[in-house]
Amino acid sequence: MKLYDPSMIRMIRNQYKFRFSKNLGQNFLTNGSVLEDMADAAAVGPDDYVLEIGPGIGTLTSVLCERAGHVTAVEVDEELLPILDFTLSEYHNVNIISGDILKQDIPSLLTDEKEKWLRKDAPVKIMGNLPYYITTPILMAILKSRPAAESLTVMVQKEVAERIASGPGTKAYGALSVAVQYFCEAEIIRIVPKEDFMPAPKVDSAVLHMRFRKVPAVETKSEEWYFRTVRAAFQQRRKTLLNSLSGLGKPKNEIERCLNAAGIDPKRRAETLDLAEFARLADGLSEENVCVQD
Ligand code: SAM
Repeated sequence: MKLYDPSMIRMIRNQYKFRFSKNLGQNFLTNGSVLEDMADAAAVGPDDYVLEIGPGIGTLTSVLCERAGHVTAVEVDEELLPILDFTLSEYHNVNIISGDILKQDIPSLLTDEKEKWLRKDAPVKIMGNLPYYITTPILMAILKSRPAAESLTVMVQKEVAERIASGPGTKAYGALSVAVQYFCEAEIIRIVPKEDFMPAPKVDSAVLHMRFRKVPAVETKSEEWYFRTVRAAFQQRRKTLLNSLSGLGKPKNEIERCLNAAGIDPKRRAETLDLAEFARLADGLSEENVCVQD
């Protein structure tokens, strides 16, 4: 019996008196083809070091152990540790770190931990069926830590995957799309219906594959201002940029001059701007007086 088989999950639950925790986003995958598709999307092979977030009972972990050089999995729920000991007992290329992924120092995990188990230059892939209650904080913590990794392949809510992968002019395009696409190229691999999980969540999910760019998609003078501008622009996405950017605390006439200097009509809305336009605008806004030369 496979780990993703619902009767196996039930058996483990009964044997270990384990209760699914809604608070920890515990929805376990029950469709084996999704697991294989995730490993295929990341092209996991014997040279690779994989960092998995939230192994649960080890469903995806076991598929990764079959293919990767080594898998390190970070799990916050201590009740799952004896279960993982049992379900992964046949693999010698896995270690579990008991803890919260948001409290880990990700760059050092990917160097120190990797070097303990594999070659220093082993390619790194980050993967996970993410707990939905902290999807965005996990993604942003990973992206902003600029991990020395090739890709990030995760299961997220379908709506979040669509927001991340969409481009300008679409309803789903927003601050998250601009932030993630700054660091990565994102692609939806497949939609996964809610019935493929146990217990079934309320909404469908999607497998999202993100390849890290060697350098960010656009050059900016100040990354801090780039993200501040994007956040402010989308905070009130129905408003014109001239109005929504007033959240930055700069005088309106200065914002208007910066928009014009960047070649952006102040009446446009955030959802129409591409990454390069956001970068031009943020560069202007970041430099006092730069836009005041009209
Ligand atoms: N990988 C399993 C699967 O695909 O069936 C389980 C995925 S389940 C959606 C999410 C997992 O993340 C759970 O095992 C949960 O306990 C774990 N988790 C929740 N919050 C976490 C955190 N802050 N750090 C690490 N793991 C976490």
